[in-house]
Amino acid sequence: MDYDIVIIGAGPAGMAAAIEAKISGAGSVLVIDRDIETGGILNQCIHSGFGLHRFSEELTGPEYAERYSKALRESGAQVMLDTMVMSLECKGREKLVRAINPVSGIMEIHAKAVILAMGCRERTRGAIQIPGDRPSGVLTAGTAQRYVNIEGYRIGKKAVVLGSGDIGLIMARRLTLEGAKVLACVEIMPYSSGLNRNIVQCLDDFSIPLLLSHTVTRIVGRRRLEGVVIAEVDSERKPVAGTERFVECDTLLLSVGLIPENEITAGAGIELDPRTRGPYVDGSMETSIEGIFACGNVVHVNDLADHVSLEGERAGRSAAEYVRAGAEANRRQIGVFAGTGVSYIVPQYLSAGVVSGSNELSFRADRVFKNAYLIVRSESGAVLKKVRRPRITPGEMERISVRNDIIDNAVDITISIEEV
Ligand SMILES: Cc1cc2nc3c(=O)[nH]c(=O)nc-3n(C[C@H](O)[C@H](O)[C@H](O)COP(=O)(O)OP(=O)(O)OC[C@H]3O[C@@H](n4cnc5c(N)ncnc54)[C@H](O)[C@@H]3O)c2cc1C
Repeated sequence: MDYDIVIIGAGPAGMAAAIEAKISGAGSVLVIDRDIETGGILNQCIHSGFGLHRFSEELTGPEYAERYSKALRESGAQVMLDTMVMSLECKGREKLVRAINPVSGIMEIHAKAVILAMGCRERTRGAIQIPGDRPSGVLTAGTAQRYVNIEGYRIGKKAVVLGSGDIGLIMARRLTLEGAKVLACVEIMPYSSGLNRNIVQCLDDFSIPLLLSHTVTRIVGRRRLEGVVIAEVDSERKPVAGTERFVECDTLLLSVGLIPENEITAGAGIELDPRTRGPYVDGSMETSIEGIFACGNVVHVNDLADHVSLEGERAGRSAAEYVRAGAEANRRQIGVFAGTGVSYIVPQYLSAGVVSGSNELSFRADRVFKNAYLIVRSESGAVLKKVRRPRITPGEMERISVRNDIIDNAVDITISIEEV
């Protein structure tokens, strides 16, 4: 099988990439997903809050996904579902995707360009190593979300949520609406890692306490969870002796971080950024291997599907352009670095010599800032751009637009956050 562009993943990133690639004139485009329907993680996110930026409307996850699924069906791109991509190989300009499904078995698919859009997965109990028994009732928040919203199960009656990322906050509210008592949301950091709107709408509105600087130090229960021990932590995130208390519950939801799905990426020899755990990309979303692009949560964990769709469109446009015109000859790259207060930044490279237009840079702060400046500096320390923000938190992804003409002479640029 031969295609111009193969896209791995049919979540919001992959769908937007396929639609935009077709709009940009790509010939044959194939989207592959291991699931039996398009939409990715959005299908289980039945709460509203999607599409505020994209459509100026408040949609549920499935509604947002359906708008893109419909456009994808009408785009002329081909979709192959229930198909798992196992590997990606690059032989010069030729890319080989190996995939498997129950009907065709193992397939070898050749492509001129590939777009990675595999999303991310949740960190589990094993990743954070909570001591104690191994009873049932300990689940990641996303698994619980699937059980409740798609499979229709009731997962427990008394729950504690560990981690205050958005999935945990949303599931605290969801379980309450399903008749369970959510006793607390426990967060090891002194601030929440979720969106402020979710803290208000999912915890405050339902009187669920948010215990900051606390963690779960033990899981208790032989067959089914009987309770957890919660303790306060110090500034080093170590439990404070004497603050432990036992909380009786039958369910513990873990919302302790997401990891971009990059086994295929690493297997193809694409360079990964240790901070994002996703591939390094440039302004066109191209990875370290020519003709392989990436977008969405596989690059970095986004909090809004709207931004994921934008990244997908950028990758789709760039892949179509690559297939049409080939790689740009020796374009100079400008490095983009995370300075003080910034934990990571995407894209990590921009192209010099593109004088018109601008670049959207996405990044996260490494702590909470009140009344701060976002500052873009060149390698000489010259300030290229400065914007004031009343509040910046690690839980909310920040974005800054940088015009190409102001960075054109720079060797590299650094983004930092500095208190006023
Ligand atoms: C619980 C939760 C609540 C959220 N709430 C909001 C909200 O209120 N508002 C908002 O705007 N955003 C929200 N988001 C964020 C948003 O949903 C995500 O950022 C977005 O869905 C990520 O899109 P994606 O396409 O990168 O990944 P995904 O949606 O995860 O899609 C990736 C796709 O790749 C497929 N795939 C992976 N590996 C393979 C393989 N090897 N072979 C074949 N297919 C593969 C998967 O099956 C999946 O379909 C929420 C996210 C979660 C998890």
